[in-house]
Amino acid sequence: MRAGPSQEDIRRHNLGALLRHVHLGGPTSRAELTSKMGLNRSTIMALTSDLTAAGLVREELPRETGRAGRPSLVVRPESARVYVFAFDVGPDRLAAARVGLGGVILDRRETVRQRGSFELAELTGVLAGFVRQMRRETSPDTVCVGTAAAVSGGVRRADGVVRFGPNLKAEEVPFGEELGRRLDLGLPVSVGNDANLGALAEHSRGVGAAVRDLIYLHGDVGIGGGIIAGGHLLGGHDGYGGEVGHMVVNPGGRACGCGSHGCLEAEVGERALLESAGRFGAGQHGRDAVRAVVEAADRGDIVAQEALSRVGDWLGFGVANLVNVFNPAMVIFGGMLREVYLGSAAQVRSRLTLSAMAPQRERLRLRTSALGDAATLVGAAELAFAHVLADPLEVLARANGNG
Ligand SMILES: [Zn+2]
Repeated sequence: MRAGPSQEDIRRHNLGALLRHVHLGGPTSRAELTSKMGLNRSTIMALTSDLTAAGLVREELPRETGRAGRPSLVVRPESARVYVFAFDVGPDRLAAARVGLGGVILDRRETVRQRGSFELAELTGVLAGFVRQMRRETSPDTVCVGTAAAVSGGVRRADGVVRFGPNLKAEEVPFGEELGRRLDLGLPVSVGNDANLGALAEHSRGVGAAVRDLIYLHGDVGIGGGIIAGGHLLGGHDGYGGEVGHMVVNPGGRACGCGSHGCLEAEVGERALLESAGRFGAGQHGRDAVRAVVEAADRGDIVAQEALSRVGDWLGFGVANLVNVFNPAMVIFGGMLREVYLGSAAQVRSRLTLSAMAPQRERLRLRTSALGDAATLVGAAELAFAHVLADPLEVLARANGNG
């Protein structure tokens, strides 16, 4: 016979749930927490006093209540004190941020990355340098409770090894382990696919907040995806799920970096757009080059308009397949797909009308990312906070022990 959860398990669960409420929802009154969590007032009081004593939250009188009687104390996350380091490793940029509990970006560093090769020591060295700079500016009473990185590639969930990242030129790279060693913070580095983490970010804090079924499509050089189903990220058996960029939409189509042909990424990615627009060549790549195509189309450039229309049509095929299979309430376009979608929305919608089934598409909302270029970093921060939200007091005690 299996024993049920102990009092201690229940307390740990409730502490995490309360902390999650204020982490995602911001300052919340005790009265609201009582009703949202379905617990009684004395339990909420005990939980908040434990979290306050640990330095994870603080309680304050509300600024104004407008109501008679004793106001309910407001519980706020200790955003300036408790933080994580989040990283983003994309084809064109390396970014690091110090993010406070509650999702506040407290500090941020970024540099351009040269495409071509993946030099593990060099990349982790740059990120560790950013962290040293940011740590120098923190006060001694602050505490780092986690670290996580968003990487443009397929990541093995178990150990943070980047298995394949054609647009990073990375293969079988022990990224999490090496970055952890370089940072030397006494904390493991969680690693996730950038589009998966972008989905998590938009679902937690962006345009998809409160949407339980959504798909986030992230365009960089290639196309990545993150699928949130029933409020959970679909990672698959080993964590490689959601690679919608390598869904074949055009058999016999353009060659893809993965070795296949006609993948969504091959038909919709940066290279496809720039080649169609006659702009692929020396010095023309990245977000600025994609933006230039959309701007040229806006100004009436026929070649740019046709390129966007062609790419928009393939994007519509990809979205139609996803909508038929997953029936999301929302599809979010992020990264460079934000620009591509804005420049080809009519084409995407008409392809959807032709190829997606009516019941799946009739209540579908198409949106652009609310978090923009910060989506993947914000998602990495959420991954880094996951441990402390699961077991707040234990993780904080350990982090304090690290000094
Ligand atoms: Zn492919």
